[in-house]
Amino acid sequence: MIPYGKQIISEDDINSVIETLQSDFLTQGPKVSEFEEVIAKYCNVSHAVSYNSATSALHASCLALGIAQDDWVWTSPISFVASANCALYCGGKVDFIDINPLTLNIDLTVLEAKLEQAKKDNRLPKVIIPVHMAGQSCEMKNIYELSKTYGFKIIEDASHAIGGEYLDTKVGSCKYSDITVFSFHPVKIITTGEGGIATTNSESLKEKLKLFCSHGITRDIEKLTNKSEGTWYYEQVDLGFNYRLTDLQASLGISQLKNINNFVKTRNILAENYGKEFEKIGITTFPPLDGIKSSYHLYIIKLGQHLDRKKVFNQLRNLNIGVNVHYIPIPLQPYYKSLNYSNMFKIPSAISYYNSAITIPLHAGLKAEEQEFIITKVKEVVRR
Ligand SMILES: *Cc1c(COP(=O)(O)O)cnc(C)c1O
Repeated sequence: MIPYGKQIISEDDINSVIETLQSDFLTQGPKVSEFEEVIAKYCNVSHAVSYNSATSALHASCLALGIAQDDWVWTSPISFVASANCALYCGGKVDFIDINPLTLNIDLTVLEAKLEQAKKDNRLPKVIIPVHMAGQSCEMKNIYELSKTYGFKIIEDASHAIGGEYLDTKVGSCKYSDITVFSFHPVKIITTGEGGIATTNSESLKEKLKLFCSHGITRDIEKLTNKSEGTWYYEQVDLGFNYRLTDLQASLGISQLKNINNFVKTRNILAENYGKEFEKIGITTFPPLDGIKSSYHLYIIKLGQHLDRKKVFNQLRNLNIGVNVHYIPIPLQPYYKSLNYSNMFKIPSAISYYNSAITIPLHAGLKAEEQEFIITKVKEVVRR
C-alpha cells in the first residue's frame, strides 16, 4: 500500500539519536533546549516550548491563556479532534466556525457574523484556534484584526504547517497570534516519533507553557511563594502535567529540522504535478491563496457530485493506493453530539466537503513512478 503520509529517517537522524542514547541524558538534558532554540530560530519567534505531543501543547496553551470552566473556544470543524478537545480538558465549551470551501480553513465571513451575534448574546469566545488545514495557513491578518475588535486570544493549530509561510513570514512566527502549535507525529512534515511544540513571542506565556508542561513546578527563585529552603528547593505553584519531550526525541527533531526545506520543496513539487493533472479532468483541488506557501502536509481532492466517494475510495484502496479522508467533521463525532449545546453547531460547508473529499498519498519519500501510478489510476477510476 502506498501510504498517504510517511516519515523519512536518514543515517544522520539515526546517528543523532544513538549519540543521545550514549550520553548522560535521555530526558531533561541539553537536547530539549537545543531543539527549542533551533525551532524558534527557524520560525523567527522568541520562544519555543516542547511537549510530548501537539495535543499536550494545545492543552497547555489553553491553560496558559486562561481557559477555565464554561469559557468559549472556537475552532474549525474540519480538523483532528485534538483541536477541540483541548478546550474541553480545561472545562471550556467548544463551538465551530464553518469552513471556506475554497481553502478548507475557517471562513472569515462566517467568523465575522458569528462574532457579531456572540457579542449580542454575551458569549464571545476567549480563544479561537484556527487550523492550517493540509498545510495552508489561515488568513491570519484578518483573524488578528478581528481579535482586536472582539477581544479574543489566538492559538494557531499549525500541526500540519511547519515549513509553510504566510505573507513572507514563517508559520510559527506568531506575528498574528499568541501561540502557535506544531505536531511532530510521523505523518507530519518532520517527526520526533511523538512530539509537539508551542511557539510564542510572550515571555509570560512562555513561563506558563513551561509550568504546565512539567507538573506546575518551578525552581525559579523569583517565582517562589515562600523563601527558598536550599538548592534542592522547588515549589508546585499550579496544577501541571508531565508533558515533557525526551532528549532522544529532541535529538531526532534537531536532525530532522535540517532537512525541512527539502521536505517541503518536494511536497510542493509533487502537489504541483497532481494539480496540473487533476485540473485537466475537472477534479477540485485546493491550491493555496496568494501570499501563502503551503507545507502540503496533505493532498486533498474533492470529487464531483456525480461520483460516489465511497466507491472511488474503495477502488483506489483495492489498487493499493493508501487513500484516506481528512476529516470527519468534529461536531459529527458521537461525543460532540452528546454535548448539551450540540444543537448550536452549524457547519453545512464542512459536511458538504466531508461527503466528497479524498486524501491521496503525498509525502517527501513518494517516488515519481508511484505518483504517476496514482495519477493514472485516479483518472481511470473517476472516468469510469
Ligand atoms: C496531528 C494533529 C494534532 C495532534 O497532534 P499529536 O502530536 O498527534 O498530538 C492536532 N491537530 C491537528 C490539526 C493535527 O493534524
